[in-house]
Amino acid sequence: MNSRYVGRFAPSPTGELHFGSLVAAVASYADAKHHNGAWLLRIDDVDQPRSIDGSSESIVTALEAFGFHWDGPIRRQSERQHHYQDAIADLRNRSLAYPCRCSRRQIGKTARQGVEGLVYPGTCRNWQGTGDEQTSIRLLTSDTEVTVIDRIAGDITQNLETDIGDFVIFRADGIAAYQLAVVVDDFLDNVTHVVRGADLVLSTPRQMYLQSRLHYPTPQYAHVPLVRDRDGGKISKSDGAHPLDPAQPLSALKAAWQFLRQIPMPEPVQDPELFWSHAAKTWCIDLLRDAHSAYPDERTA
Ligand code: GLU
Repeated sequence: MNSRYVGRFAPSPTGELHFGSLVAAVASYADAKHHNGAWLLRIDDVDQPRSIDGSSESIVTALEAFGFHWDGPIRRQSERQHHYQDAIADLRNRSLAYPCRCSRRQIGKTARQGVEGLVYPGTCRNWQGTGDEQTSIRLLTSDTEVTVIDRIAGDITQNLETDIGDFVIFRADGIAAYQLAVVVDDFLDNVTHVVRGADLVLSTPRQMYLQSRLHYPTPQYAHVPLVRDRDGGKISKSDGAHPLDPAQPLSALKAAWQFLRQIPMPEPVQDPELFWSHAAKTWCIDLLRDAHSAYPDERTA
């Protein structure tokens, strides 16, 4: 195994595996296998209230049916709370993060629109809190540009202070925010290559900024175009949309391969093992570079 490549797939247990998440899993697995790397499976269940009972088991069963083999045990965010708390404590000790008591409604009154939601106006930057209140924790951003060199989309630059604003890394309900959890997880797992859906491309500068604040290395990123529903929306697990039939793994794998603009498999590929041995040899991420114009309009949303 090439220890310099560690990839991962990190589904949230909010429903059944659907075609959109299969596409992300296929891209990440094929890229890892093509580089003779390791591939990890992590269940992103930090947001327990959003998790659906039985969903993580059904995702794991489906991945097995589709012929994915992950290295080592399945990781779970729910088992890593203390690592998230440690990262928050570290950032706060170094005055890089601060408590915030603003409600969404209050923020909405004064904040302007950024590249992804409202830009927090910094109201609580100088508020110390008493330590007793239930507050969220925000990361202090700075007026510098962060550029992701995405293997598919090319360069994506954001000025975090003006495009995003100080963002929440720990929620007022006591749950680590996704941005923090994913950064800590990828560090703990020594992930070197992240291949995932383009809905997260605009989050990546925030994650890179957090990595720099925590002195973590930055993985290489590749964001694959999203599978859209007929109305142009992103299909999501919680819609119950486009469920897959694990009893027919090959047709969905081939459809994902085609969606990812890969060279068609020679006939016949009768089972997932044959599919994957061919996929590992022929995977070419560059074939997706032209497809990135299909990225979501979320840039301007
Ligand atoms: N858990 C996230 C999702 O299911 C993916 C996180 C990531 O790949 O960074 O959309």
